[in-house]
Amino acid sequence: MNEIPQFYTEEFPRLNIADMDILSHTAGPGTRLVLWLQGCKQNCPGCCNQNFLAIQKQHLVLPEEIIGLCRKANVEGISLSGGEPLLQAIALAPLIQKIKAEGKSILLWTGYTLESLQAISHPPEIAQILGMTDILVDGPYVQEQRASLLWRGSQNQHIHLLSRRYPTTILEHKPHTSLSFAHNTLCLTGDPNEHVLASLAQKLQAYGIKITQPPAHTRE
Ligand code: SF4
Repeated sequence: MNEIPQFYTEEFPRLNIADMDILSHTAGPGTRLVLWLQGCKQNCPGCCNQNFLAIQKQHLVLPEEIIGLCRKANVEGISLSGGEPLLQAIALAPLIQKIKAEGKSILLWTGYTLESLQAISHPPEIAQILGMTDILVDGPYVQEQRASLLWRGSQNQHIHLLSRRYPTTILEHKPHTSLSFAHNTLCLTGDPNEHVLASLAQKLQAYGIKITQPPAHTRE
């Protein structure tokens, strides 16, 4: 792989995001602003974020808006998911730089492996982003290797502590799941085990709500 393509570059410095939310513990250490960036070219079978894969403009946001949200919610850091965040590396690098200057941490999920990223020299923002990332969760979701793991959905994915901000004991944390309801949508984040899903289905059924399709895993 020689390079990672860049999309929406005409919108610089704005980022094209599919969604954002503030979550506790399900998307990294502490309370975090999670950005799901729009677009991914990998099409992994079983990807839970199907709506975020198309290369199309969704919500264009300026770095200042994101920084303002971080300050207002006093988050520990931001978590970048998708879609594939690195398809917007050119806009992402300066945002991360500003977030780091606020003393906040960066967690990045990518469908590329760390090894393949280190072999890539273009665009240069990729190396800059890796240099500023505290926690990297790498690799595509592989359905056949599905597992309920801390911050990842399949066994081939790995957590890399790229800075000294967090101790290795953080990797011993148990996976969390959160449930929220907004805009008429029930959103399940994390990777609940079958017992949690069964219990949730039972409780919803008591209110006359039936789950017709099991919630998918969260890779990122
Ligand atoms: S699992 Fe990740 S890398 Fe794979 S298609 Fe979904 S967003 Fe892209």
